[in-house]
Amino acid sequence: SAAPLGSSVIPIVNKLQDIFAQLGSQSTIKLPQVAVVGNQSSGKSSVLESLVGRDFLPRGSDICTRRPLVLQLLQTKRKPDGSEEEYGEFLHLPGKRFYDFTEIRREIQAETDREAGGNKGVSDKQIRLKIFSPNVLDITLVDLPGITKVPVGDQPSDIEAQIRTMIMSYIKQPSCLILAVTPANSDLANSDALQIAGNADPDGYRTIGVITKLDIMDRGTDARNLLLGKVIPLRLGYIGVVNRSQEDILLNRSIKDALAAEEKFFRSRPVYNGLADRCGVPQLAKKLNQILVQHIKAILPGLKSRISSALVTVAKEHASYGEITESKAGQGALLLNILSKYCEALSSMVEGKNEEMSTS
Ligand code: GDP
Ligand code: MG
Repeated sequence: SAAPLGSSVIPIVNKLQDIFAQLGSQSTIKLPQVAVVGNQSSGKSSVLESLVGRDFLPRGSDICTRRPLVLQLLQTKRKPDGSEEEYGEFLHLPGKRFYDFTEIRREIQAETDREAGGNKGVSDKQIRLKIFSPNVLDITLVDLPGITKVPVGDQPSDIEAQIRTMIMSYIKQPSCLILAVTPANSDLANSDALQIAGNADPDGYRTIGVITKLDIMDRGTDARNLLLGKVIPLRLGYIGVVNRSQEDILLNRSIKDALAAEEKFFRSRPVYNGLADRCGVPQLAKKLNQILVQHIKAILPGLKSRISSALVTVAKEHASYGEITESKAGQGALLLNILSKYCEALSSMVEGKNEEMSTS
């Protein structure tokens, strides 16, 4: 199953990586990381899972995410026979490949218990998981414990302050994109997600509002004004989503079915008709992809100048050999010339076809 996140960015990043591989230098394009923030049970883990397109995160009506999960997606090459292999590997279990994503969820739960105990305790010690797949973009997603107010189980009395500090340590980094998750059946003006995101990113350049649970709003209410930013404006705007309900989780409903149900939900509700670009997980993925393309655009001039200066170095070396064009340096200069042209072409592709690529 192709992950919705990255589908339009992967080809661009791959081309850039190829250029740098040919130059013999290491990869280069550091994409921003994406973290989810919000109250407990607002749907953070559900949103991340849908973006990745695989079922593997603990989700539920109770506190499930009790340690930060740093999820590194790593793109692998498709096998020569065209088949694809997707697996996970934990930092705490080096060398052990998890091909079964249900096993990955079990291991996250077991490892959570090992560090934070079995009774709702929370720990700021990360769980680090790499997912290797031909269908993903090299990007890091962070699933964080939700903000809770009242200590339960083994939680200390200052649980809220502890969790807020933990969340801030991730989202205050200027390169972190923040998905601020608020359920539609709670008051946006009281959203802890928007509040903490606003502390970390006061100008709102890297905060996307995500409104979950549109399917269980009070009868007679809808999220139109929320999505239009009329309640609390947000520079990057809002996306409304419908994730799987607790019942869906118990019935093991697949992500594919859930995405189809979400599509049907929005299609069958006239109030959301004019808001297609603000509704659904695919739109959230698209928005993230656009931001990533913008990011690549911003770093392209720097990449180009690196290629150019490599070109000058090789040209000088070439000149010092005289006219022996068959030399290694000559070939290097030729290659670099081709690469810098390629890079030009690539940047005009990013410039010109941005809109088109992000809708694909
Ligand atoms: P987290 O604590 O913020 O990570 O939230 P989870 O992703 O674990 O979800 C908490 C609970 O809310 C689970 O029972 C989900 O099934 C449910 N849930 C999340 N999003 C939605 C949604 O859009 N609609 C409905 N009906 N339930 C949802
Ligand atoms: Mg969670």
